[in-house]
Amino acid sequence: MSSSPSFWSPIVGQLVPYVPGEQPRVPDLVKLNTNENPYPPSPRVIAAIQDAARQGLQLYPDPESVALREAIAAQHGLDVGQVFVGNGSDEVLAHAFFAFFQQRQPLLVPDITYSFYQVYCGLYGIAAELQPLDEQLRIAVAALARRAAQGCAGLVLANPNAPTGIGLTLDQIEQLLRACPDRVVLVDEAYIDFGGESALGLIARHPNLLVVQTLSKSRSLAGLRVGFACGQRPLIDALERVKNSFNSYPLDRLAQAGARAAIEDQAYFEQTRQAVMHSREGLVLQLEDLGFEVLPSQANFLFARHPAQDAAALAAALRARAVLVRHFKTPRIAQYLRISVGTPAQCDALVQALTDILGAARR
Ligand code: PMP
Repeated sequence: MSSSPSFWSPIVGQLVPYVPGEQPRVPDLVKLNTNENPYPPSPRVIAAIQDAARQGLQLYPDPESVALREAIAAQHGLDVGQVFVGNGSDEVLAHAFFAFFQQRQPLLVPDITYSFYQVYCGLYGIAAELQPLDEQLRIAVAALARRAAQGCAGLVLANPNAPTGIGLTLDQIEQLLRACPDRVVLVDEAYIDFGGESALGLIARHPNLLVVQTLSKSRSLAGLRVGFACGQRPLIDALERVKNSFNSYPLDRLAQAGARAAIEDQAYFEQTRQAVMHSREGLVLQLEDLGFEVLPSQANFLFARHPAQDAAALAAALRARAVLVRHFKTPRIAQYLRISVGTPAQCDALVQALTDILGAARR
């Protein structure tokens, strides 16, 4: 615990903030460290943002982002009242933690997952009970369901999980939903469009399901900050109450217009997500040829380790060759690298750099 300067509220000294991946100021790095999409957003997004910039920036945006929520709802066969939007899915997640998980029992969180979940727990005084992944770094669904049935504040998981990239089936998600029908099960689908099975279709049957998605990854809009949550109306009403107690206008006019255009350009979305998945499959084979063990990924990144190389040293050697990947000094995964899938040229640069590093290590 750090010592608190005297002006701070006592809790501030106790927070353990999230540390995002490096956003380098140096140009020309091969940036494979924060799971952004390597392709730019749809040209229709840029046009919509330009239009929005030309009219009305002196006025506040729609506080309820109705047009954007209608576009999301239409795409997923939901009603607009079943969709909540926020400033990146990080903000949506934060509001969901506040709205649902401040209970007397602990929140169940996989031990290896998106580390922001534990940061929100710290911010809102939520006790997190870590649930170990199995030996293959998979979510141990049966054990988790048994634990959930004994009573908890709820359950949060990323599907596919981060940073492993491993997905769950809808049967497994339903098993978890049935294990704690009185608590919210939050399924964070940040990476779902790269090959996973979305739980959005389960919303009608499960009042305790909240699905969170983002436009940062499959819609190439990490810089615009738009995320959303879908669930039955009582869950969305709770999120609205929290949001309207925090910030009436979390999405500006440009973000609402750009996000809506991205949702509506289904052809561009299909084309770019297919390109990323195609590059991923090629990269898996190339990394395996170099001796890496690669976890099966349904995301836009790979989680890989080399049996003969230290992961931190590899990450540093890559950085020296202008390639950024993510390394976590976390127990159990400290020998893995998380590598975002880039364009074919970026993947080639990575493979070339690794070939040099491994060749040098052998000599
Ligand atoms: N969930 C997961 C699992 C993530 O990896 C990320 C990206 N860091 C997010 C949510 C947040 O994404 P954003 O705030 O850009 O929507």
